[in-house]
Amino acid sequence: MPYRDQAILARSHLTLGRLTALLERLNVPLLYLGDLFERSEIRDLLSLVALDAEFGGLGLVRVAQLPAYGATEKDSLAVIAWAAVEKLPVIQALARVAEIDGLSDTGRDGLAKLGAELAFVGPGTSPWSMLTGWLFETGSYLNALVRSSDPADRQKLIAIYHLLKVCGEHDAVGDGSRKRLLERIRRIELLNQDSVYRAISAEATDIDAVRVLTIHGSKGLEFPAVHLPALATRYMPASRKGSRTPALAKYPQLNMAKVDHDAEEECLFFVGLSRARDHLSLTRAVKYTTQNATASKFLDSVSSIPATTRTAPSSVPLPIARPPVVVERRASYSASELETYIRCPAKYRYEQLMGLRGGADGAAFLDFHRCVRRTLAWIQDRRAAGVATSAAEALAHLDEVWAERGPVGHGFEGYYRQAANRMVANGAVFIATEQGASVDGGLDVTIAGRTVTMEPDRLVEAGGVVRVQRIRTGRQTKGEGDKPIYGALRLAAQKRFPGRTISVGAYYPSDGETREFPAGKEDKAIKAFEGAINGIEAGQFPAKPDDPRFCPNCQCYFIWIVPHNVV
Ligand code: SF4
Repeated sequence: MPYRDQAILARSHLTLGRLTALLERLNVPLLYLGDLFERSEIRDLLSLVALDAEFGGLGLVRVAQLPAYGATEKDSLAVIAWAAVEKLPVIQALARVAEIDGLSDTGRDGLAKLGAELAFVGPGTSPWSMLTGWLFETGSYLNALVRSSDPADRQKLIAIYHLLKVCGEHDAVGDGSRKRLLERIRRIELLNQDSVYRAISAEATDIDAVRVLTIHGSKGLEFPAVHLPALATRYMPASRKGSRTPALAKYPQLNMAKVDHDAEEECLFFVGLSRARDHLSLTRAVKYTTQNATASKFLDSVSSIPATTRTAPSSVPLPIARPPVVVERRASYSASELETYIRCPAKYRYEQLMGLRGGADGAAFLDFHRCVRRTLAWIQDRRAAGVATSAAEALAHLDEVWAERGPVGHGFEGYYRQAANRMVANGAVFIATEQGASVDGGLDVTIAGRTVTMEPDRLVEAGGVVRVQRIRTGRQTKGEGDKPIYGALRLAAQKRFPGRTISVGAYYPSDGETREFPAGKEDKAIKAFEGAINGIEAGQFPAKPDDPRFCPNCQCYFIWIVPHNVV
């Protein structure tokens, strides 16, 4: 049966994403865009748009390594560093690669070629003009794709077409800012609002590839053959999640009861079944990731369909392993860099080894947090020097910090400023009224034979108790006390203040509350930091895109070269 006559339908994009990643490795042609903004060709184009629009030209790291330019990561980093020293936009630096030391011959030629192709781009060039100019006039990115009849390449063209539509809409509302387009895409991803960009357009109907859709998206369609995978508990019916917007207490009937949820899921199951014209295959695995799964209860209603069980090792080729990066061993690490590694080793590599930091070009909310932290640190320093700070003085200092580094002119500036005022005023009162004396200096502890250094926001000695605190400018979270840093802070404080009572916790200026975290997490902390040190020194930097709220705020989000299936 031709691929185009078959469809894979699943309850969620998450399931489809996992399945399609495996099928792609088996070279099965698929018609599925998945998350548009996470596709490799779209990341190429967004990295191009990001040149000089975001984070000091970081996009060059990805664009420079496109086959048409053949430059290395090292070449791109040399150009970025040179542009920073010369205070030039990266695109202008590309026009002067002859002056940049340390480039490979191929890299120099490739980057000069890229510079020539982007010569038409200026600060006011819109994403639409930049992409269409480069794709259709000056660059060669599309050449191989338009000549190819491979369904995967044709799918790439469709994805590019979708991205151009997004840029066209951005232009149509009179916004030509490349930075704002990228901010919008980050926001879409952060809020998980990308489903509208996943639909395949009508232009793709002739491609001989398996159609891949959510069951919701398949309503009203029919296919000669339908595969319904993942018919297992937790997948079908999907687990019932609490509503983010519960109904008002006086309208309890508007909340969805479990029985309604199950009925809706069952309807969805039958929608899936009824999309098949001639062939229907219903499947499930006995184990998903590491968890065993039992059959979906909805399968009882179709128990007359003959079932077979196949037990076979996976025939999916293993993901490509990246060669380890050679890393120099160090005698000491800061706890904050190890925390970055624990969060995402790839981010650690980008930041610590490649020097690709976000700098001051962050999102408005990051600027707001930075202003609050700086002002609180200033109050803390004054207190350590024996100078008391009133709330009015603290707010006056915040004014100065805000003018220099705050989200001035941002649409939500008023909201951020109000929150910052409240936090700074709370912090000033808290620091002024606290008993005890501030203690200078940092803390350190030996882990895996290395010194791990820490700079707690607050180190205060009062009545035989040493208080070690971090200032958290975000909201309180349940798991804060489980973070390895608190166990490490306790160990380090015990080392520096032997025999004293140590209190480890966090202060939250947003509500003026302090939380103390109990002892007992030290072993876990040592294990986590030890794992990070060993991973760094073994040169292992896998991407960890686990937290969908974290990646879209990462400065490396668009340049991210390592796909999900590479370890
Ligand atoms: S985008 Fe996500 S996975 Fe990639 S480096 Fe940043 S945090 Fe890690």
